[in-house]
Amino acid sequence: MPVLLAGGTASIPADLTAVILGPMFLPALDPAGPPDATSVLVRVGTAGVAIRSGAPPEGAVFVGALDGRQCWAVDDAEAGPDTGALDLRRLWSEVDESTWAAAGRAVQLVEWARTHRFCGRCGASTHEVPGLRAKRCPRCGLEAFPRLSPAVICLVEREDGTALLARGPQFAARSYSCLAGFVEPGESLEEAVTREVREEVAIEVTAIRYFASQPWPFPHSLMIGFNAHWLSGEIEVDGTEITEAAWFSARKLPGLPPAISIARSLIDDWLARVGR
Ligand SMILES: [Zn+2]
Repeated sequence: MPVLLAGGTASIPADLTAVILGPMFLPALDPAGPPDATSVLVRVGTAGVAIRSGAPPEGAVFVGALDGRQCWAVDDAEAGPDTGALDLRRLWSEVDESTWAAAGRAVQLVEWARTHRFCGRCGASTHEVPGLRAKRCPRCGLEAFPRLSPAVICLVEREDGTALLARGPQFAARSYSCLAGFVEPGESLEEAVTREVREEVAIEVTAIRYFASQPWPFPHSLMIGFNAHWLSGEIEVDGTEITEAAWFSARKLPGLPPAISIARSLIDDWLARVGR
């Protein structure tokens, strides 16, 4: 089955989700009962994330219910390095999908708490707003909500069954992926797809269709995946974000992005449709 992380289960009836995916993660603002000594603790330190069990310490942030247990995020930045801590990307291959989703949310909430301790307008210390995932400034009233940066990612296909894959300067050797970029203020998701593809490879696209989305906690993105069709233009890379791009057929593929990514889900979906 294609990897559609956390929230990619929209097409599966809710009562079947637990059967198919195993443990369930339900994000929530507050726990259903008092803090529980058998909670799942996501300890977010400087060296990565460690999944532990126990009672949430003072200052822990509720993440949600993980397989029926309370799940809390703990900011471990002040503590010594946890020898069992793993980078979130490495954690992905060590835990089930729901636990990884909870860990990703925990990292985002801790990151938000760390970077919103003071009001961005007047500099006063902020405090939590009861009943809301928000921080409010007691002096000027400014409210800050968890930071999310939406980014579109798109697989562009041509009539001949090929798909456009590209690589940037920071990519692993010989590895290609879909085109992606952050959404600009004032722009729709479809406009962001059109602009990103045009800017990065000078191609015009049409038939932009939503595929799926994926929380991407590096550190606070939301990836929104699309399919699109080539309309016109020849590939001309921008030379900065994208250094190489080409039309690939299913029979001659480059290195592909890891299974953790929605990029890989887009590519696997295309490969399934073109009959690889
Ligand atoms: Zn303020």
